[in-house]
Amino acid sequence: MSAVTQVLVVGAGLAGTATAAGLASAGVAVDLVDVKPEISALGSGITMQGNGLRELRHLGVLDAVLAAGYPFDSLGLRAPDAAGTLLAEIPDARTGGPDLPATVGLPRPALARIMADHAVAAGARLRSATTVSSLSQDGSGVDVVLSDGSAGRYDLVVGADGIRSATRRMIGIEAEPAPTGMGIFRAFGPRPASVTRTDLYYGGPAYIAGYCPTSEDTLYAYLVEDAADRSAMTPAQRLAAMRALAQAYHGPWDEIRATLTDPATVSYTLFEALVVPAPWNRGRVVLIGDAAHACPPTLAQGGSQALEDAAVLTELLLSAAALDDAVWEAFTARRFTRAKTVVEASCQLGQWQLDHEQGDIPGLMAAIATLVSQPA
Ligand SMILES: Cc1cc2nc3c(=O)[nH]c(=O)nc-3n(C[C@H](O)[C@H](O)[C@H](O)COP(=O)(O)OP(=O)(O)OC[C@H]3O[C@@H](n4cnc5c(N)ncnc54)[C@H](O)[C@@H]3O)c2cc1C
Repeated sequence: MSAVTQVLVVGAGLAGTATAAGLASAGVAVDLVDVKPEISALGSGITMQGNGLRELRHLGVLDAVLAAGYPFDSLGLRAPDAAGTLLAEIPDARTGGPDLPATVGLPRPALARIMADHAVAAGARLRSATTVSSLSQDGSGVDVVLSDGSAGRYDLVVGADGIRSATRRMIGIEAEPAPTGMGIFRAFGPRPASVTRTDLYYGGPAYIAGYCPTSEDTLYAYLVEDAADRSAMTPAQRLAAMRALAQAYHGPWDEIRATLTDPATVSYTLFEALVVPAPWNRGRVVLIGDAAHACPPTLAQGGSQALEDAAVLTELLLSAAALDDAVWEAFTARRFTRAKTVVEASCQLGQWQLDHEQGDIPGLMAAIATLVSQPA
């Protein structure tokens, strides 16, 4: 039984590849398109939490993810002092269950490659450098014209095309992401032996200075500051600005800073947030992942929430006989409040810092860990 037999998934990020793989492996004919010419070319690192790992295990890619990444089970808090003093080592909640690591750091291109390969192996037809030119729907299907000139009719279109989703606009949803007031420098580089988990330094010239091991050989390091327009900077200027901001941080940061020499590895991104009001579908077109809800990475939950959307949508589609209101009501019931709560908590953590207010950070983190420990 399945509510759909022909599905178009727009966007081959985490949400799109997970949906495509889940549906295709159950025999649904899936076209998966992505506007980028090369799926896994760009990106630094990603911190994947236990609840996301639970979904990756369900998809059958956990072993590949663990082999490509760096698992760890604790979080370090360090002071912005001359020694980078370790203040506390906190066991991380194993939100995916006791048999999964609390966290895995991964190079983004490696995760993207694993997911895209898995979707294709499951039977999805992946086309890169392709997007949707137009779509129109009636009660029984969606007619789509793609940018390569081809056309098709689908039972369902899944808009998994990220925070600036074109699908969202095509179905008349006006919600757009809003800046939260912070920006982040990120750099990808070699892992010194002293980096074996995420450590966070609160205070100093940045709100947060942190790093996450992403494999035996690699890490990504980041500095969160007040949002600034750094779009006119050259890569060399961006590197110099990140190095200058990092001067205040010591301990493992001294070794990391010494390796920050390649401008091509440094990026700057403004934090944004979005919650599209429920429902996330208009007829036979539905939004998932960052297209529907996006959070600043203060809890590192965006990827996991995208995977949870994919898992719940896939399960509901494969267990229903028809694509009717009951499917969409069940999807909203299982996903809307949970994803919204994560976005709001992620924003609150940043807002306390922007307001220089002593909020209950451990309490809020524990509440979210309890929430996402429950199966989606
Ligand atoms: C600075 C920063 C750091 C982050 N760190 C973490 C972290 O450590 N851990 C974590 O879990 N999350 C993190 N996130 C959030 C995480 O990256 C996202 O939540 C996650 O990638 C969402 O997955 P997605 O598949 O919904 O969207 P995306 O990953 O954005 O994928 C969307 C895909 O759609 C494609 N696309 C876009 N437009 C079109 C179009 N018109 N047609 C066709 N294809 C299109 C894109 O090329 C892309 O491949 C971070 C976010 C930011 C901004």
